Amino acid sequence: MTDSTRRVALVTGGSRGIGRATVRALARDGFDVAFCYRSDDQSARSLEKEARGEFGSEVEGTCVDVADAASVRAWIETTEERFGPVDAAVTAAGITRDNPLVLMDDEQWRQVVDTNLDGVYHVCRAVVFGMMKRRRGAIVNLSSVAGVYGHGTQTNYSASKAGIIGFSRALAKETGRAGIRVNAVAPGFIETDMVAAMNDKARKDAVNSIPLRRMGTAEEVADLIAYLVSERAAYITGAVLQIDGGITI
Ligand code: NAP
Repeated sequence: MTDSTRRVALVTGGSRGIGRATVRALARDGFDVAFCYRSDDQSARSLEKEARGEFGSEVEGTCVDVADAASVRAWIETTEERFGPVDAAVTAAGITRDNPLVLMDDEQWRQVVDTNLDGVYHVCRAVVFGMMKRRRGAIVNLSSVAGVYGHGTQTNYSASKAGIIGFSRALAKETGRAGIRVNAVAPGFIETDMVAAMNDKARKDAVNSIPLRRMGTAEEVADLIAYLVSERAAYITGAVLQIDGGITI
């Protein structure tokens, strides 16, 4: 039996980084949250435990590869049976496989596009009809400044993140009259495992090129996402909000 006053959120890539901080922010704001991840069971279990304990919301992680359409559909169906209809969807699952294009192999291209771009399509395709029927829903897709400006050694990643911007704007146009809002968030350098692989020199150079002279935190991005899915952002749709410490000025 579900409580119809509860709001339900889906978060992909919820076990670590920006997705994890988003699960916590949405649980804090009163959502029951279903999140998915690819392999890190330990992080998923620890997040369930800490978020339930701190915020009293239902928080459940499931191992689902967002690149696999059938698995995503099955996950969302089970979530809606268990928690009720999805009010908010946040697509944070993402990977990098960096290489200059002259050295890139097909597998590096495919993995990034399949996870980052197809993953967003699979989730949005599975939730949008229900949202349109209920005339309510908010979607936030994680893009990147690399998707707006391009980033060397990341043609695959930049293309997938630029695709997310086009996808989100088109979907915002299609579904606005049904009361659905779709926005993209484009972070710069954020302190997560994704940037932990940078060597000291690359990190120093990156920080020196950021006007605010530091990388952002996952919590800062999660707060922007929590705002975008809330009623406070009721007139924002089709936006691409950069959160980058000014690196793109
Ligand atoms: P992260 O720390 O590397 O975490 C990635 C998350 O995505 C993990 O929970 C991972 O699950 C999950 N994931 C990866 N592949 C998946 C798949 N095929 N199916 C389901 N889940 C999958 O990444 P992050 O830095 O938080 O990045 C989150 C999003 O923000 C990404 O879309 C990224 O492109 C974007 N972004 C990040 C930055 C940055 O500086 N960090 C900047 C711009 C944009 P497992 O734990 O199981 O592997």
